[in-house]
Amino acid sequence: MSVFLRAHHLLCLSHFVGKGYSDGFTRHMAKVLARLKNGEELCLVSGCDDICSHCPHKSGGVCASGNPEAIDAEVFSRTKLSPGVRMTWNKAAGIIKPLCSDIQRICGKCEWRTLCEKNHKILDIFV
Ligand code: SF4
Ligand code: SF4
Repeated sequence: MSVFLRAHHLLCLSHFVGKGYSDGFTRHMAKVLARLKNGEELCLVSGCDDICSHCPHKSGGVCASGNPEAIDAEVFSRTKLSPGVRMTWNKAAGIIKPLCSDIQRICGKCEWRTLCEKNHKILDIFV
């Protein structure tokens, strides 16, 4: 099986420290990350993905919070990746790593940005 991910969730997973929109969401995100780290392939998508599936902000098949499409577009643009691309987590992490020092610009007004900025300095996020 593949893990389907929208582009900016590569960044979110890289900064994940067990916090999220709800307990169910957080538990699910931890499971997705474990699957990826265990070698399951990921496939990039546009729109809602296997993380959004457990998010309280998903409504009618789309995200009803903020403008995640803009962050996805920025990540796609900077990485030269596109929907439909498949790869391992390790490969994706290597591609996303250079973006992690610029999430202030990439992620804009995301409510988690302060936490992510703090944590990417201390986490060994690519193991
Ligand atoms: S906030 Fe939106 S983009 Fe983020 S996980 Fe929830 S539904 Fe998906
Ligand atoms: S700031 Fe928001 S969008 Fe950016 S990596 Fe963190 S949780 Fe994801």
